[in-house]
Parts: sequence; structure tokens; C-alpha cells
Amino acid sequence: MSSSEYDVIIIGTGPAGLGTAFHLTGVAPGISILMIDRERICSGGLLNDCKQNYTYPIGFATDNWTSAEAERLLPLVEEALQPTIKEKQNIEVYRRRAERLGVALLDVRQAHVGTDRSRVLIQRLRDELTRRGVRFMLEREVTDVFNDAAGAGVVIAGGETLRAGNVIVAPGRKGFSFLQQVMERLGIAYIDNVVDVGIRVETRLENYPVVNDYYDPKFMFPDGVRTFCTNSGHARVVLERYDGFSLVNGHALSEQQAGNNLVNFALLKTIGLKAPVRSGQQMGVFLATLANEIGGGKPLMQRVGDFRLGKRSTVETFNEDLYSFPPSCPVTAGDLGLAVPAKIMRHIWAALKKLDTIVPGVLHPSTIMYYPEIKMYANKPAFLDSHFRVSNGIYMVGDGAGTSRGITGAWASGIRAAEGILEGS
Ligand SMILES: Cc1cc2nc3c(=O)[nH]c(=O)nc-3n(C[C@H](O)[C@H](O)[C@H](O)COP(=O)(O)OP(=O)(O)OC[C@H]3O[C@@H](n4cnc5c(N)ncnc54)[C@H](O)[C@@H]3O)c2cc1C
Repeated sequence: MSSSEYDVIIIGTGPAGLGTAFHLTGVAPGISILMIDRERICSGGLLNDCKQNYTYPIGFATDNWTSAEAERLLPLVEEALQPTIKEKQNIEVYRRRAERLGVALLDVRQAHVGTDRSRVLIQRLRDELTRRGVRFMLEREVTDVFNDAAGAGVVIAGGETLRAGNVIVAPGRKGFSFLQQVMERLGIAYIDNVVDVGIRVETRLENYPVVNDYYDPKFMFPDGVRTFCTNSGHARVVLERYDGFSLVNGHALSEQQAGNNLVNFALLKTIGLKAPVRSGQQMGVFLATLANEIGGGKPLMQRVGDFRLGKRSTVETFNEDLYSFPPSCPVTAGDLGLAVPAKIMRHIWAALKKLDTIVPGVLHPSTIMYYPEIKMYANKPAFLDSHFRVSNGIYMVGDGAGTSRGITGAWASGIRAAEGILEGS
């Protein structure tokens, strides 16, 4: 391939990077690959909950994928991750109820590993890649990516430079500003006009029993609102920390662990921005910063009962009320109405009322709404080909580059880039 130190350097050991490495080493044994990650363990977002969705379009960015292309690659993802697909029941009953309200319920092939068991999966994947000769450099941050007449390469914090025939940039959502810096320096055009903004709902299992029939039910409501990332069993809402603010997210342990009788899921609204708004990412940052400002440095939470009455939740209402469960992620009790833009809140609340008709009980007064849950994964580089190549020898894939929105889509994106390298695109 080239006289560089490596044939391929992969930035990021999340599913997109792993998908590239698995495919390259499977098809071209002996290829030399270095995977770099700033974290202590190799994993990226595989570590959290690790639900795997094997039905298009879940987890895929539809403007970069066709159903045929996703379906061609999903069996390869499945071969590597070896999931145990979960059974579903009573789908038709929920679907009929939903259809009457103009809501679609997607039937998705799903597997769930759980945060406690995902480490076992990650270790197996890493051992397999090590056996195939892949090298790992962990706890090292890449600060720049370049290409010149001699090929492509990366700069590591501290100044060390490494060269490769090809560089895969797969830094995930948290790497969005790194990715933007690289694109700006290399003169790669990109658009960033979509952001998903929403809330995370937490309630007792008995108020949302649909999860006993369908682990992560995908309801698609009018106005671009959808359910996303449902967790149950031993489920918790968690903080996702960024520079200057926190977002909420959720995960659950594996079925082997005792349950805590709680469920959480996100309700997200996709916002497509038009000129003159420049950046969906920046809009996400502003909204998140506002919410964290109102929350005294933390996200906000409010009981549905208070929201309905138009009053804020307070520490006292969380401590001394009749309500039957404490929040799994105690943030600042407050008023979502002060922080969520009115149009977004209106559409999310309309979706929640429909959901309460499909699965009666979810709008119990004790149900907690957390905000902000925002997905900032919409840097869309101008790709030069269908393999997500952005410049000579440089490919950008995964959630950070807007080619995916979940584990399986990220892995499949990595395969597409690997195919490009093998074809010499
Ligand atoms: C709490 C939580 C729960 C989730 N649950 C699910 C789920 O159940 N199912 C699902 O499908 N999706 C889930 N997701 C989303 C999922 O994690 C992502 O869709 C997926 O991991 C994206 O893969 P990726 O490879 O693009 O990026 P990531 O998995 O984010 O990997 C990127 C890697 O790049 C590294 N990196 C970034 N910048 C640099 C740099 N400059 N130098 C070196 N390394 C760098 C990061 O440390 C990271 O390890 C969840 C996310 C969160 C936060």
C-alpha cells in the first residue's frame, strides 16, 4: 500500500472504528493497523447498554444509506457481534392502537447486552483484533489529521506524528469539535443543519409495560418526534458530560441482574435548520447551556403531575410527595417550560399524550421528565465517494461524521470505509 508506518490508522475504537478494523483484517490478513483512542479502554459507545438494532433505518443516517446497502452489511455486523436476538410479543395490538392515532410502531430486530456484560463483548472483540495483528494505542489523543504528497497521517497530543496509507477518523459524537477542526483545516466542506432535541422519560415499569413485550419499542409520532433508546430491567438515567454542560442519557444492566422496576426512554424531535442558522451543533450547545444554567450547572427534572399543573417541581416535591420512586439521576428539580423551546415542548407533549393512549399509564403524575437530551451528531462532510472518503487517504465515519446514529449503523459505516480502502478508492 505505502511506505508508511501503518497501512491504516483508525482514530476511535468505537463501533465505527472496530467495524473498519474487523472488515480489513478479515478480507486482507496481514494488513497493518493501528487503533488510537483517548480513553483508557477500547470501546467507544459500545460500553453503554449496548442495544443492537438490526433493522434499517434504526441507527442509520438515511441520507447516506439506502435500505439495500444497509441490509447488505447488517449480516456482517451480526457476524462480528454475535447478538442474541430478543423475542417480541403483542406487536399487532400496540401497532393497531398506534395507527389509529397516526403513529407508526416499527418492528425492529433487537439484541440487548447491558452495561455490565458489554465489557465481556468488548474484550472478545479486542482479543480477536489483537490476534489478527491490530495494534492499540490507548489514552492518547489525536490532535490533527493531515495528508501530503507522501500520504496521510495523524498528530498525537505532545507532537508525535504517525503516517499511514489511509486514516479513518471515527471520533463519535463527543468528537464533534475535533472533527470540525480537522475539516476546517483540510478545507473539507460540511453541513451541520440537523439536531435532535428532546427529553428523557423515567417511570415505573408498571406504567410502561410495553417493554415486557418489546425491549426498545420504536414509536414514530407526527412532527418528527420518536421514542429512542428505551432501557428497562435495572435501568438508570445517566449524565453525559461535555465541556461546560451535561446532557442526560440512559442505560440498563443485563437481564442477569436484579431489576429496579424502572424504565427510561428518550422522546426526541428532529430539527432541520434552514439558513441563516449556521450550525445544528451550536444550537444544541446553546440549548444545553441554557438548561444547565437554569439548573445551576446540571440538567433539569420535573414530575409530569407538576408539569400538567403548570408549576415547577421542587426539591420538596421530590422528597415529600406521595410519589412512589426517587429519580435514578437526581439533577435539579425545576420547570422544563423555562428551558425547552415552546414548539419542541408542544410536539413532545403531544407525542406523550398519544403514547399514553397506546400504553396507558406512562403519563402517571409520578413520571419524571429530564432535559436536555440532545444528539449532536450531524456534521455532514462532503463525501467524495460512497465509502465516506473526504480527501486523499482520509475517511470520516460513525456518529461524529453523521453516517450513523447507533452501534450497528456505526459498525456498518466502518465496513463501507474499509471496502473503499480495499478497492483503493
Ligand atoms: C449512555 C449512552 C447509551 C447508549 N446506548 C446505546 C444503545 O443501547 N444502542 C445503540 O445503538 N447506541 C447507543 N448509544 C449510542 C452509541 O454509543 C453510538 O451510536 C456509537 O457508539 C457511535 O459509534 P462511533 O464509533 O461513531 O463513536 P463512539 O462509539 O463514540 O467512539 C468514538 C471513540 O473515539 C474516541 N475519540 C474521540 N476523539 C478522539 C481523539 N481526538 N483522539 C483519540 N480518540 C478519540 C472516543 O474516546 C471514543 O472511544 C448510547 C450512547 C450513550 C452515550
